[in-house]
Amino acid sequence: MHLIMIGGSDAGISAALRARELDPAADVTVILADAYPNFSICGIPYYVSGEVTHWRNLAHRTTADLEAAGMRLRPDTTARRIDVPGRKLLVTSADGGEEVIGYDRLVIGTGAVPVRPPIAGLDELGPDDGVHLLHSMGDTFAVMRTLEEDAPASAIIVGAGYIGLEMADALTIRGLHVTQIEQLPEVLPTVDPQLGALVHAELAGHGVEVLTGTAVQAISPAPPGAAGRLAVQAAAADGTPVARTADMVLVVVGVRPDTELAADAGASLGARGAIAVDRMMRTGLPDVFAAGDCVITHHRLLGQTYLPLGTTAHKQGRVAGENALGGTRQFAGSLGTQVVKIFGQAAARTGLRDREAIAAGFDPVTTETQADDHKAYYPGSHRITLRVTGDRATGRLLGLQLSGHKDAEIAKRVDIAAAAIFHGMTVDAVSDLDLSYTPPLGSPWDAVQLATQAWVRHARPH
Ligand SMILES: Cc1cc2nc3c(=O)[nH]c(=O)nc-3n(C[C@H](O)[C@H](O)[C@H](O)COP(=O)(O)OP(=O)(O)OC[C@H]3O[C@@H](n4cnc5c(N)ncnc54)[C@H](O)[C@@H]3O)c2cc1C
Repeated sequence: MHLIMIGGSDAGISAALRARELDPAADVTVILADAYPNFSICGIPYYVSGEVTHWRNLAHRTTADLEAAGMRLRPDTTARRIDVPGRKLLVTSADGGEEVIGYDRLVIGTGAVPVRPPIAGLDELGPDDGVHLLHSMGDTFAVMRTLEEDAPASAIIVGAGYIGLEMADALTIRGLHVTQIEQLPEVLPTVDPQLGALVHAELAGHGVEVLTGTAVQAISPAPPGAAGRLAVQAAAADGTPVARTADMVLVVVGVRPDTELAADAGASLGARGAIAVDRMMRTGLPDVFAAGDCVITHHRLLGQTYLPLGTTAHKQGRVAGENALGGTRQFAGSLGTQVVKIFGQAAARTGLRDREAIAAGFDPVTTETQADDHKAYYPGSHRITLRVTGDRATGRLLGLQLSGHKDAEIAKRVDIAAAAIFHGMTVDAVSDLDLSYTPPLGSPWDAVQLATQAWVRHARPH
């Protein structure tokens, strides 16, 4: 049985590892277009900041580890065409040489590519001019070249989603003055604006100039004598022109699934143009599975959606690898659980916010609570802001968003809610969970339980 995984990142490698774990005799080949198998691209901001001191440290596993697990790696090799009936894959190597490789089962893990928004000048300017997109290790090396060779004093970041925010943190640590421009009314639009405002204040407190409700329209070389080498033209929500200059510009406004190979082979596409798969990660093409940022996401509350995340890519890849060997495992579904650290602040969410819950047919109520991360009498406690969303009709917990100090166990707390939502618990039942307590680390009622109790008092008082 020869399995081929296309893609050497979270999904492709997870699939290969799982297949080899289940069948140490399985013949597994991983084809990847670049030379960085199993690199944690989630760690890129921390390499750019200098907190991770060498790019090689971003590898989840080394090439030697992966080969020791029994997979054959084909770096710098691009899959060009899938012959589904013939079960053959046409690939090209870096020198342009073509090769046809036979397979029994195929897993497509081609991931995502950064969105290029319609900004004038973006197609003409590139890394040599100090204008960057950021997704891959190759993009990262280009950013590092600009930082090391041109020693920029300032940067404009277009986009204030989680990657844009992490990069604002990273570039500030490197000593650049950062301007962050976001077209939506608040930063971190994946959480409610009340929590986004806390992140906004954290950015401003670290010297980042934040322009929200501001749409970037053009990037161009700055005129001689300007404060930076690039000029950015934008418009505020009321149409007022906004202009800034900087030495480098980073455009990070999201990703889109990389589906050309699969679509050309006849795979159906679904939400946001991602490859349609069932919960066994089957594409509908015989013997072809797909996983990760290139596929639709089964969401436990929303059904089919597109939610590209590293955690999901690992899980889907594992399912695809098992099923490519003949297994029948199902991807249990995502809740979009995520957390981000920006300077000294963390923000997290799981499940649904009001608008999403309404679209999914719920009758949501959201309440906001503040609670201490541990007993306030023990030094170093921090206030956390929590927003609980539940269904008024059934009392079911639908979502939790929270923000607070980076040491306030924000990630652990969102995970409590993620586990509760995963198992369909009511908001009220969260109080029954037997959570840990000692004064330096928590409270007899955890902050999450205090927040869910406040929701019950407000939404279902009887
Ligand atoms: C800066 C940054 C920070 C992030 N932080 C987080 C985080 O904190 N938490 C989180 O959950 N997620 C995070 N993510 C998202 C996460 O990294 C992705 O969801 C995850 O990497 C997706 O994995 P994937 O294997 O599906 O695709 P990708 O990582 O996009 O990899 C695709 C692979 O396919 C290869 N490939 C593509 N086309 C071909 C072809 N035709 N032939 C051969 N190979 C091909 C590529 O070379 C690559 O190896 C972050 C992403 C970035 C960029």
